[in-house]
Amino acid sequence: MITFFNTLTGKKEGFVPLTPGEVKLYTCGPTVYDFAHIGNFRAYLFEDLLKRFLQFMGHKVTHVMNITDIDDKTIKGAKTQGLGLAEYTRKYIAAFFADLKALNIVPADVYPRATEHIPEMVAIIKRLVQKGFAYKKDGSIYFSIAKFPAYGRLSKISLEELHPGQRVDVDEYEKESVHDFVLWKAKKEGEPFWETEIGPGRPGWHIECSAMSSKYLGESFDIHCGGVDNIFPHHENEIAQSEAAFGKTFVNYWLHCHHLVRDGEKMSKSRGNTITIPDILKIMDNPAALRYLLLSTHYRKTLNFTFKALEEAATALERIDEFAGQVRYGSYPEGETPQAAQMVSEAEARFRSGLSDDLNISKAMTALFNLIKKVNVAIAQGELRSRDAKAVDRFIGSVDRVLGVINPRQSVTIKVDSVSAKLSVIEPGGIVAGETELPEITAEQKELIERRQRARADKDFALADRLRRELLEQGIILEDTPDGVRWKAAAPPKKTG
Ligand SMILES: [Zn+2]
Repeated sequence: MITFFNTLTGKKEGFVPLTPGEVKLYTCGPTVYDFAHIGNFRAYLFEDLLKRFLQFMGHKVTHVMNITDIDDKTIKGAKTQGLGLAEYTRKYIAAFFADLKALNIVPADVYPRATEHIPEMVAIIKRLVQKGFAYKKDGSIYFSIAKFPAYGRLSKISLEELHPGQRVDVDEYEKESVHDFVLWKAKKEGEPFWETEIGPGRPGWHIECSAMSSKYLGESFDIHCGGVDNIFPHHENEIAQSEAAFGKTFVNYWLHCHHLVRDGEKMSKSRGNTITIPDILKIMDNPAALRYLLLSTHYRKTLNFTFKALEEAATALERIDEFAGQVRYGSYPEGETPQAAQMVSEAEARFRSGLSDDLNISKAMTALFNLIKKVNVAIAQGELRSRDAKAVDRFIGSVDRVLGVINPRQSVTIKVDSVSAKLSVIEPGGIVAGETELPEITAEQKELIERRQRARADKDFALADRLRRELLEQGIILEDTPDGVRWKAAAPPKKTG
């Protein structure tokens, strides 16, 4: 049974989709007034994990993510730069898609844009007016929260805090100003507007998600996600609009991702500590490590982003990649063992049950790490067989359909001369400890191996990788093991001097 923590009910609940085997998922997308920062992407990655996991569990997922290309902020930004709205938002939309790709996020089925769904929004607003949930004032149209008794259920605001009859025109506001919120904003000088049946103007922010979700997913659907910042007012208002208009439950499960802080501080433009995906990749060009870092904290916990944490993620991931490569490309004696089959099925069950528990990523990763540990022991003891390795490889492949971060290292694909393929170990101090029949290496090559060890210890992965390649060009293949680095010769090593 899959369980999710439902913000609406405040507890973990068993997940049952409306149609067995099919999940309809709506996730609030970016407001394209600026480059999205890493905090935004934490939410998009949580949603990607959720979607990939549901697919892993055999569900067909239909995923819709809107793009807010008109609201207070986009209009203000375009004005400041003296650009048309579409011209202004274009570069942020392009950057958003480039970042999604860099982070290996599975694309949504549809990315509807607000400006392309004005008729759908107008239709819902008309209906709300007809049903008495909305009223017109000075050319604008407002939702009357007093008419919707369930208002506040998602964000748990008490009814005493409500100010029915008072109006709020801005798209974003705090809980302190719970007012009738704007659905349609009257035409204003210098703002884009549409001529419609409900008068000239433009939509408020919240109505677009009600319009686009019902268009692409239906009036009732399974899961709606966003960051915790979206709970109030945005999601509260979406519920009011949709349920008042359609008279049925809007969404069954509301999942919200918590904040990302940077070096312990909330990230915000006013603090000047926001950071974008390209900014980070300029400093450390390892998008898989960034993805891994952002996924590896449970979505309902605050995530503290630091470059040290990113380096640690890179190291952890490098270990997984090397293991995956060793399993995929290593050569093992023919056959299979019951022990390996047991290890794999246990790991698989634990990985599934971990994520089934409200996406408990720590439990899932522990399942993977335990398997790596056990298989490494089997390899070291010469017990892993070729079909065992294939089973482990398959498991890693299926795990990675969810994680999307593993790139098995191919450095061991090169054909190894059977005589010189015996492995040797250098301990961190640089002392050769391994087997007696060492492949010959020169003092210079040994020096390179030791320099690479130091680079790794200093987390200078770029240098470590360069030294690894340099050695590979000389016919020395390196393998990192829990005991230290091992090498084998790909071809008779070059002699110098
Ligand atoms: Zn939304």
